[in-house]
Amino acid sequence: MSIIDEQRWHGRLHSGGWRTGGAGDHPVIEPATGDTLATVARGDADDITRAAHQAAAAQQEWAATGYDTRSAILRRAAALLEEHAPELHPWMIRETGSVPAKVANETGWASEELAEAAGLARQPEGQLLRTNAPRMSLARRRPVGVVGVISPFNFPLILSTRAVAPALALGNAVVLKPDPRTPLTGGLLLAQVLEEAGLPEGLLHVIPGDAEVGEALVADPQVPLISFTGSVEGGRAVGQAAARHLKRTHLELGGNSALVIFDDADLERAVSAGAFASFLHQGQICMTAGRHLVHQAVAGDYLEALRATAEALPVGDPAVEEVALGPVIDAGQRDRIHGLVSDSVTDGARLVAGGSYDGLFYRPTVLAEVTERTPAYAQEVFGPVAPVRTFADVDEAARLAADSPHGLSLGILTRDVMRGVALADRIPSGKVHINDQTVADEAVAPFGGVGDSGDGSRLGGTANLEAFTELQWLTLQGEIPQYPF
Ligand code: NAD
Repeated sequence: MSIIDEQRWHGRLHSGGWRTGGAGDHPVIEPATGDTLATVARGDADDITRAAHQAAAAQQEWAATGYDTRSAILRRAAALLEEHAPELHPWMIRETGSVPAKVANETGWASEELAEAAGLARQPEGQLLRTNAPRMSLARRRPVGVVGVISPFNFPLILSTRAVAPALALGNAVVLKPDPRTPLTGGLLLAQVLEEAGLPEGLLHVIPGDAEVGEALVADPQVPLISFTGSVEGGRAVGQAAARHLKRTHLELGGNSALVIFDDADLERAVSAGAFASFLHQGQICMTAGRHLVHQAVAGDYLEALRATAEALPVGDPAVEEVALGPVIDAGQRDRIHGLVSDSVTDGARLVAGGSYDGLFYRPTVLAEVTERTPAYAQEVFGPVAPVRTFADVDEAARLAADSPHGLSLGILTRDVMRGVALADRIPSGKVHINDQTVADEAVAPFGGVGDSGDGSRLGGTANLEAFTELQWLTLQGEIPQYPF
């Protein structure tokens, strides 16, 4: 039996069942063709208010529900997502412009997130503390209440699920605002899976809408925590608004990750890793390698091999042909990428491969002779662009890699693993991969960045206990103590 029922989402959003939205119908455009893939509903600020109100009411009972029930629903959702992944994939490929292997990874990871969350619901709730009084003293974790989740367009299923699943597991309700370009993969498919798994109504609301709808979510008094994944600019705005309302946030933001390649690294593997890190999903990944730092002794060979790889990668519509890269999400994104590449060339960078596009299909691009001023090197491009810069020794590698306001991911390729660790110690980064490229995630690992890549929040594994609960100090004693007043 199919888990996807197009009729349920046609002209609808998900909020206490499937209903129309305050901002009317919303076409979902397939980037590869420009065709309308589906029509859903677009929410407005009133939809957010209603959803938050309903979520707050439903959350009380959910928090009081046995952990085994919450855990079982999430376990079922994990199994359903895995079982029905092949049904979801065509929608995800067409909505996001992803290649099949990417969406298969994404449903796999999202299923892992749900399974991990099922386990999280069973974790101890806190600690028994020592105390100087004749009493029991506990630090216990309480649900936050209603969690507002705001997610982006690039890996929408995983980036929504990584917050929705642990939030629900720990007794919260969720109002999710996916990017309006990817409302199916970013939330409505997940709502169908969780509905099928038996999640009670009112606990997950999916309200597609633009930044203004996100702003309403941040401002809503019923929503004490905002879990935001997106750009630095968006995160800054959300952080400022949340601070005005004295709300907690998780800000998971952009990156411009360095991949450092030493002269002792296996060059063939290094080039393959470098190409994957810059070109997977058209470079629209927060962990994309935006800066290839290559030891000068091998830089010429690396660049030539990366050029050959980039030129050989097929680009096209992943729904109908076998390609390595699909379209970027929309014309605005394409123009931003092309602007950064053109400005880089004007500034003196050498175009080694790519730099051109057909519609939304941007060729994998390699830039050489870049400096710290080169726009496509200095800024996050969020496109398939690999700027290559050379270094002479480990001190220069450390200085160049650390010279970024971002600090999300770092890859270091060298046969001397301890040299890699010593270098990593000198570069602020939320995650480090020695002998691997920069793009990686696992449901059990803490994910987050430093600097402009975030506000110090971590999502994943046991970090979720902290992320989606409030710690309460609770004491209990048999008699009221005698006080001097
Ligand atoms: P974006 O910030 O424009 O949008 C992300 C989401 O936030 C969307 O749902 C959008 O509607 C909403 N939004 C934007 N401004 C808002 C505001 N002021 N108030 C409330 N909601 C708002 O991001 P984008 O450019 O579409 O996505 C790409 C960016 O996301 C890149 O910078 C990428 O690195 C980053 N990203 C980070 C991670 C991570 O885990 N650190 C993961 C994926 C993407």
